Amino acid sequence: SNDVLGRGTGGDLRLAGLTKRFGSFTAVDHLDLTIPQGSFFALLGASGCGKTTTLRMVSGLEAPSEGRIFLGDDDVTERKPHRRPVNTVFQNYALFPHLDVYENVAFGLRRRGIKDVKQQVADMLDLVELGHLARRRPSQLSGGQQQRIALARALINQPQVLLLDEPLGALDLKLRRQMQIELKRIQTEVGLTFVHVTHDQEEAMTMADTIAVMNSGRIEQMGSPADLYENPGTTFVANFLGQSNLIPGTVEGVRGDVVTVTAHGQRLTLPADRCRTDTGAVILGVRPEKVRLAPAGSALPPGVNALAGGVVSDASFIGVSTQYLVRLPSGEELAVFEQNTGCEIQRPGTEVVVHWDPSQSFGLDGSQDIEAG
Ligand code: ATP
Repeated sequence: SNDVLGRGTGGDLRLAGLTKRFGSFTAVDHLDLTIPQGSFFALLGASGCGKTTTLRMVSGLEAPSEGRIFLGDDDVTERKPHRRPVNTVFQNYALFPHLDVYENVAFGLRRRGIKDVKQQVADMLDLVELGHLARRRPSQLSGGQQQRIALARALINQPQVLLLDEPLGALDLKLRRQMQIELKRIQTEVGLTFVHVTHDQEEAMTMADTIAVMNSGRIEQMGSPADLYENPGTTFVANFLGQSNLIPGTVEGVRGDVVTVTAHGQRLTLPADRCRTDTGAVILGVRPEKVRLAPAGSALPPGVNALAGGVVSDASFIGVSTQYLVRLPSGEELAVFEQNTGCEIQRPGTEVVVHWDPSQSFGLDGSQDIEAG
């Protein structure tokens, strides 16, 4: 049975071959996905990739063209929305303007004919830390407060799965950051499965245990935030989560656990277990913060990958770091982020050598296009 905070007995949420077509356009394309019970899962992708359509199928607002949806052992594909143990929190909150906070939160219980709502509403208002505003109307609340009420109103129904569709989209950046941490705290406290849809990679990384990166109706890659960041599998993921330098090259050979690559006319290496191809075209990736900048002619640490002959084309001081663009002899530009720890800032026009530890780079299949992400 469920306790007051709705800790479910439900099991994993599983999508099997889930597909949605609108006419000849496929918005969601054979999604296969298991979201473990109690996890904080993010569906991350650019506008139009099919995130909202996926959520709408899970909540029952949209009928799939193909595929099934399971909650634990139950196939819920054909169930009406109100018969599914699923609730959604939307970006626009959808609170009742004529009801006060208390009655907004109590609504789901009253609709089910429950009379004694006092304790449960009080618990929910405590959970979102808004007990002191119980008698306010939504119009008398800030955006962040309205969002918490929307959350309390959904959680009081004791769903097994809470769907969050860009729930923080209407908030300014600072409040967004606060609410991200707050949402994570609440999810840990209630232990429910949260499925969060967002196009904001930092938001997904802040909150989720597992992120599925969606692109054109498909899952491009799935994993923990650190997995996806350290081992992106495609150029799209490499650039959608953070920023990557992507350098086209050719695999020269593999010896033991080291892959040798030629790129920009130079010989570079990377660990075999971080390289997704062992022949032909490769794209060597390295994050800007993993690349170091040194004055031309400097002695470099042994074993590093180095590209000489670069010239600083831009230096942007942004507080914690200075972000450089370095133009290589090939004409390509490389991004380099240096922590500001009192080092001298290299001016545009300075000749430099860029270098990085081979273990900090990754290799992608070179037959793909370099996607901006
Ligand atoms: P956003 O972040 O902008 O909401 P999204 O990733 O949530 O994007 P969806 O809303 O799922 O994307 O839409 C996926 C694609 O399906 C889009 O190209 C959209 O135009 C299309 N689409 C969505 N609903 C319909 C519909 N009812 N009829 C036709 N096309 C639709």
